[in-house]
Amino acid sequence: SRAQVVVIGGGYGGATAARYVRLFSNHKIDVVLIEPDAAFVSCPMSNLVLGGSWQMADITTPYDALRHRHGITVVCDRASAIDTARKTVTLAGGASIVYDKLVVSPGVEFIYGAIEGLPAAHAVGQVLHAWKAGPETAALRRQLQAMPEGGVYAITIPEAPYRCPPGPYERACQVAWYFKQAKPRAKVLILDANPDVTSKAALFKAAWAGPYRGMVEYRPQYNTTAVDAKAGLIKFEVQDDVRADVINVLPPMRAGAIAVQAGLNNQANQHWCGVNYQTFESTAAKDVFVLGDSIQIAPLMPKSGHMANSQAKVAAAAIVAQLAGWPVNPAPLLTNTCYSFVDDRRAVHVASVHAYNAAEQTYLTVPGSGGLSERPSEREGAYAFSWARNICADTLA
Ligand code: FAD
Repeated sequence: SRAQVVVIGGGYGGATAARYVRLFSNHKIDVVLIEPDAAFVSCPMSNLVLGGSWQMADITTPYDALRHRHGITVVCDRASAIDTARKTVTLAGGASIVYDKLVVSPGVEFIYGAIEGLPAAHAVGQVLHAWKAGPETAALRRQLQAMPEGGVYAITIPEAPYRCPPGPYERACQVAWYFKQAKPRAKVLILDANPDVTSKAALFKAAWAGPYRGMVEYRPQYNTTAVDAKAGLIKFEVQDDVRADVINVLPPMRAGAIAVQAGLNNQANQHWCGVNYQTFESTAAKDVFVLGDSIQIAPLMPKSGHMANSQAKVAAAAIVAQLAGWPVNPAPLLTNTCYSFVDDRRAVHVASVHAYNAAEQTYLTVPGSGGLSERPSEREGAYAFSWARNICADTLA
């Protein structure tokens, strides 16, 4: 009988893995992709929707090509349980699916309860994160539009590691770009639990001191402990309370809930899932592969869509090799590029190449492979638009 690979999560990790298992096996392995959302909404470029230069439709892609071009069975449901002994996945709808190999790429779970007042404020849509693109992205955009001129937008950042290190700083730039046109007396406050800007620090600081001078303020070591949405207040471990009109809290994050349910979260105080970096097979369960934001990262590896896509190809190749009885690639290589837009057209990037090191059983960055922009430019903006189109096509087309 034909081998069956089941994939949980149709995002950058899961959809790429599903697509590449089909491609690498010449369509000889059956693939079932489980995803509750009817279409994929990309987090990359979603900050441009907040800025107003892009629309929700620009970041939304259906699963049609995976279904019709690649013959993947896309099940619109949520995985509610994994039985790693019986090798089955149970769906919220009740059905149960058997797997030979399972890919788990559910993104992050937000730990709302870590911040007092957040579970209630988030539940009624008063305090959003918009850190999973979708309805919250559109809702946060509406909050920014409704904010009065002269008001304050505050974004709070949890301690690293979190999904997309440069993302919050790009968001600050996008909101400032919108304010410059629509409400020039408004302010953007960045309240960061970390000791400094976590990614592309000099480039972002130059934007805040340059085009956004007087509008964007960055404050390190602001570790959010509570929000009072009615009073418009944010409270911190050490620093004084901050008042804001629009409060955008990025809660602390951990591996997606289904990974936790399955007991795959065996690293960093049960926050992240340990994997064998050569194949991305879980160190907690055989024949289960974990990808993307849910994994315990190797040194200098960001939690990014590009990384999840790159990891997915390594895992797909390993799955196809294992099922065929071939040796797995002894020396996988991962690439990453993170672009950030400082306005509607100009972008900066940071890039790296990560090579698997068999002796240390981890990825090490290849010396001399990395790169960082000198300054924002429209040319890099054009590259960034191409990157977004291409990564989306490599994942879903
Ligand atoms: P996701 O892409 O989030 O996919 C997870 C999927 O799993 C979701 O579709 C979810 O619905 C599904 N799922 C969850 N639980 C279940 C379940 N129980 N059953 C079935 N399905 C489930 N990265 C870049 O490389 N470049 C960028 O420019 C960039 N910009 C970003 C900007 C913002 C504002 C944000 C928030 C992130 C950005 N990222 C960027 C990071 C990127 O979005 C993530 O790193 C990437 O999406 C991780 O891929 P993933 O497969 O782990 O998770």
